[in-house]
This record gives sequence, structure tokens and C-alpha cells, in this order.
Amino acid sequence: MSGERVLPVVVGQIVESEIIGLTHEGEGVGRYEGYTLFVHGALPGERVRAEVVSVGKSFGKARMKEMLQPSPERRAAPCPIYDSCGGCQLQHLDYPAQLHWKRRHVVDNLVRVGRLPVEGEKFEIAGFSGRSSERAPIIVHETIGMADPWRYRNKAQVPIGRGEAGLIGGFFEEGSHDIVDMEACLIQQEENEATVRAVKEAARELGITAYDRVAARGLLRHVVVRHAATTGQRMVVLVTNGRDIPHQDELVGLIRQRVPQVASIVQNVNTFRTPVVFGEHTRTLWGEDVIYDEIGGVRFAISARSFFQVNPEQTERLYQKAVEYAGLTGEETVVDAYCGIGTITLFLARHARRVYGVEIVPEAIDDARRNALINGIGNVEFAVGRAEVVLPRWQREGVSPDVIVVDPPRKGCDSALIATMLELRPARIVYVSCNPSTLARDLRLLEDGGYRTVEVQPVDMFPHTSHVECVGLLERNGTED
Ligand code: SAH
Repeated sequence: MSGERVLPVVVGQIVESEIIGLTHEGEGVGRYEGYTLFVHGALPGERVRAEVVSVGKSFGKARMKEMLQPSPERRAAPCPIYDSCGGCQLQHLDYPAQLHWKRRHVVDNLVRVGRLPVEGEKFEIAGFSGRSSERAPIIVHETIGMADPWRYRNKAQVPIGRGEAGLIGGFFEEGSHDIVDMEACLIQQEENEATVRAVKEAARELGITAYDRVAARGLLRHVVVRHAATTGQRMVVLVTNGRDIPHQDELVGLIRQRVPQVASIVQNVNTFRTPVVFGEHTRTLWGEDVIYDEIGGVRFAISARSFFQVNPEQTERLYQKAVEYAGLTGEETVVDAYCGIGTITLFLARHARRVYGVEIVPEAIDDARRNALINGIGNVEFAVGRAEVVLPRWQREGVSPDVIVVDPPRKGCDSALIATMLELRPARIVYVSCNPSTLARDLRLLEDGGYRTVEVQPVDMFPHTSHVECVGLLERNGTED
């Protein structure tokens, strides 16, 4: 038998560990005798005493027992429920340090997962020495942060349950299905807090039952609210376990009276035993089926189930970067894959000859078409479907894009989509990503297919959480001047 490595720790052992990094989940990465331990709540630069709680082949987990040397970047989390909520992971870290670590996370993924050369990093990549005669390394810019990184979320998704005093709503306690009642969330826009509070009160007064996740009984499962800062409009979505809402008219009346800015009250029925929030059936109880918001002078209709970025200020910066990287002169044909309600599509359309958007959710494409109309933008075409299926169809129909923009969900692009992009050979590809590891994987595939990643811009869309959004620019080899 080949010699199995003897691990230097056992469960229950108390160790002293140096923290040298942060995981994508915001846990401290500690070292103990060459072994990696993830320590919840610990920060880079700290020295902690911790108890080992699990041990695996390549890493273990440990619980902090004592802080021996705190980081100068540590600070008290401003939120009183930070520990039990789990919605934020980085409130105990200074904001500039959060931005630094988010960039670091992107760089590490490009180097380790993508085996890509990054400016300023040591090159440990086979066949690449970093000499200037070879390709230029990727420039990863500093993370674009917010001037005031609080109260940014335009959407709240609040699970409802039954507490001792009746209907409550807030968040699932970390690692459980128990709901903790919550009135305030520091990353949520205050308007959303007020809306949620009013809906909860109205539901309590009318004796509307809360959904019981164990018995699968009771009516109200989630309250989802949106606020459009540029128009002041608000939306309320009641996710219910069944179609009939007792006292429906009174409920709608109370919400309208207490939240005069409400423009849309919608019901979504979800009768399944599932942690998934939305069910299949949606109907408008009062008002319009959408609310309107504006980003960078473009107006968007947003319906209950459509994806819309949650941080409007940073979204504008992200989209501007995407348009800048697209390098449009007004003559180009562009594809926007994973286009949602056509946000990036319409931004691009103002600078291109024609833009094709594709998205899998039919309601989002309804919104996208409506959005093109209300903005008077005619040079766009939208299709419902999987990007990896629709793009080959457009290819057969003779669509030949100069630029392709992709903005996939966390799992990244389908390999069939990457293959079609490589066949279509656009001069530039702009890759918007909410997951640096799948970004790095896909950039590697695109590089192997004849593209070079020029630069990557991380944008802090989700301050105080460990998430980071990026936009990257790739050019086809042989197209630079
Ligand atoms: N670019 C948009 C949406 C990005 S989110 C914006 O910035 O607002 C990713 C989108 O991809 C979601 O709207 C999701 O519904 C869609 N999607 C997921 N898988 C898809 C697929 N295989 N093909 C097309 N769209 C997909």
C-alpha cells in the first residue's frame, strides 16, 4: 500500500493556528503543521486557538475557542443578529479589506482553477514563464466598491412561520428550518423593511395562518417585496400554500392603505414540500403585474418572478463596464446570452447595430420585449430557450456576432454554448460572472479555443457577503492591432 499521509490533528484536539486566507464562504483558512483547517469567524493575519471538529483528507474544520492575535482589520459586526442569520459572512471585516479579499478570491481562481497567468502573480503554469514574448498576463483590477455599502438590497425574500406569538417572518436560523422573527436587516433598503412589517401586521390582524414546514399546513409561506428606488414603486408577492386567501380583499386593502407606494400585489401559489420559494402559478391580486425601475437611463418593467440585480447602484457600474468591454462603434451584431429581462441587451443596443438576447424564463422574455418597447429600442430580438440550444439555431440562420456577452448563473456556461461561441469566432467575448470558479473554468476553455483574457473587473454587488461579481474581456487571438 502506498503510504497514507498521517494527519497531524484528530477531532476534539485544541490547536493554535495562523490564519492565512479566507474561503469563498468567508471562513478563515488556517494552517496547523502544514494541514489546512477552516475556522469559522477567523480572519487572515489572526492567530487563534481552535477546537478541531472534523477532519478530512485535504482539510478539516475547527471552531474558534480563543482569539490570540486579532487582525487590525477586524471590527465589531454592526448587525445584532449577524451570527444567527448567516445572510452576511464578512461584517466582522473592514470594508476595504472585504474588497481586497474579493479581488484575491478572483485572482486565486484564475490561477488555480483556470491555470491562467495574472499580472503581479507568480506564474506556476506549465509552459508559461511570464516573458514578454509570450502572451500578456491578465490584469485583474481592484474591486469596485460602494461609497456607502449598507441598505443596498432592492428585494427581500422573507420566510414566514409560526412563533409563540403567532405569525412571524425573518430568516432561517443558520443551518436549520426554524424561522427567527426579524424587523431590521442592515443590507436591506428601509422601504422593503417597512413593506414587510406592514404585510406581516396585516396578516396577523386578519388571522391568516403561517405555513408550518413540518406539517406542510398553513397558508403564507413567503413574503417577497421589491422596491424600485428611481420610481418609488413597490411590489408585494404573497407566496401561499394554496389558492384561496381568506379575507383577501381586506388584506389587499390593508396593504394598500399602509404601503401607499405599492403598485403591484401578486400571489404565487406553491403547494410543494420544497425549500424552493416560488411555485408555478402567479396571479395579480391588485395593480399592475410589474413595477418599473431605471438603470442608467433605461427603464425596466420587472415582474414577480423575473431576475433583476439586487444592488441597483453597483449594477449600473457593472453594466457600464460590460458595454465598455464590448467596444461597440454602432456597426456590430451582438449576442447577449442569459439576458434575463433584457437589461444588458438594452444597454448594448444603444451602441450596436443589432442585439440578440436569449433567456430560459418565458416571463423574463415577456418583460424584455416590453422593456425594448417602452424604451423605444427597436434593434433587438429576443428568444426564449436555453442559450446552448438557441445560439446554434441563430448560427444556422446566419447570425454572425462580432461580440458575445454571457451572464450565466453560478454554474457557468454550458460546454455546448462554449463550443458554439468558438465556432462563431466573435472578435470579443464579454463574460459577466457571479462565480469566480466557473468563470475561471470557462475562461480556460475559451483560451484553449483561441481567445485571450485581457482584463477582469471585480464589482462588489453584495457588500458584507462573501459573493463577488466580475466582468471579463476576452479577445480572439490575432485580432489585436
Ligand atoms: N443578464 C441578466 C440576467 C443574469 S442572471 C441581468 O443582468 O439582469 C442569469 C439568467 O440566466 C437568469 O435570468 C436565468 O433565468 C437565465 N438562465 C439560466 N440558465 C439558462 C440557460 N441555460 N439558457 C439561457 N438562460 C438561462
